[in-house]
Amino acid sequence: MRDRTGRPSRVDPGSVGQGRPPALPPIGPEGALPPSGSVIPEAAWRRALDLIGKADEIALACHVSPDGDALGSMLATGSVLRALGKRVIASFGDRQFAVPRLLHFLPGQDLLVPPADVPAEPELMITFDSSTPDRLGLLGANTAKAHEVIVIDHHLSNTGFGTLSLIDPHVAATAVLAEQLIYRLGGSLDRDIATCLYAGLVTDTGSFRYSSTTPEVHQMAARLVATGLRTDEIARELWDRSPFGYLKVLAAALDRVSLEDHLVWTYVPRVDRAAYGLPYAELEGLIDIVRRTDEAEVAAVLKEDDHGAWQVSTRSKGAVDVGSICAALGGGGHHNAAGFTSHGSVEDIMAAFRALLANADGEA
Ligand code: 5GP
Ligand code: MN
Repeated sequence: MRDRTGRPSRVDPGSVGQGRPPALPPIGPEGALPPSGSVIPEAAWRRALDLIGKADEIALACHVSPDGDALGSMLATGSVLRALGKRVIASFGDRQFAVPRLLHFLPGQDLLVPPADVPAEPELMITFDSSTPDRLGLLGANTAKAHEVIVIDHHLSNTGFGTLSLIDPHVAATAVLAEQLIYRLGGSLDRDIATCLYAGLVTDTGSFRYSSTTPEVHQMAARLVATGLRTDEIARELWDRSPFGYLKVLAAALDRVSLEDHLVWTYVPRVDRAAYGLPYAELEGLIDIVRRTDEAEVAAVLKEDDHGAWQVSTRSKGAVDVGSICAALGGGGHHNAAGFTSHGSVEDIMAAFRALLANADGEA
């Protein structure tokens, strides 16, 4: 596997799982489609197949600082498109292009190119898990100039910025829609492709804990696990490992955590990470520790990235729509999980957030 950071990855995707079970038989448009709970009209899927059928080269993009759903959905789809004979390149528009360490285990990374190598005006672009062109970072410009853009996403806040929308906020993950597309293309689910889709499904359902975990989600998981993937190894890669420096940065973040009424929050300046050489992406799980606070309804973590911008992660237990609050601050997301980016100070960011939260509380 190509390692974008040059560091060896501890799990070679070829070694995840014991023995390689045969690929499942392809299920084409004529075959039975697995249930997904999706309400995307058949005409939209047909148009997607038509656009993909006509394209020789397809550029794939997912959101910046990709998570398991964004990168997993993109790599799974890309592998299938390549197997179908398409020229495929995949990327994401971070200025410092590197796959986050916890996603190094995902198979299919040989599809990845830095954003500068994506054609300026792709014939066909497919975007994954991005609710706005902004979320595509540097690749927003390529998307704007692409001849056709298929937007595959599950964010309610998606602006429908493509020429074709495969958007369904009812599904738990973009990976659900990627699987639907793969079946409709007549592609088959082997263990590598299933590993990518499973990473998306477990990431966005919080390991099947969130309310988005429908019977269809478990049915999809069963199809994926049947390919022989190792759920235990994937879980360890995603959640159960970190460099030692993470514990030190975590300790400092927890030391400055505040509880104000129903809001619990903390922040991590980049100097904290620099002291231990800890990459920004290692902070992804911090919000899950902070949001467990019984006394709080809403949790926020402000993380300063390598460019000095604050990336704000927010979570709600349900009563408050943090998606709307973050949208008002220039970001977006879901009712219970959302975020935004700000170049202001911690004090200013929190003042703006508190004001919107007070309004939302008043309406609840
Ligand atoms: P996380 O806190 O895990 O980074 O993000 C939670 C959710 O908020 C994600 O599903 C993503 O859709 C959304 N989100 C996070 N940061 C941003 C941002 O800067 N802009 C937008 N539009 N959405 C974001
Ligand atoms: Mn997602």
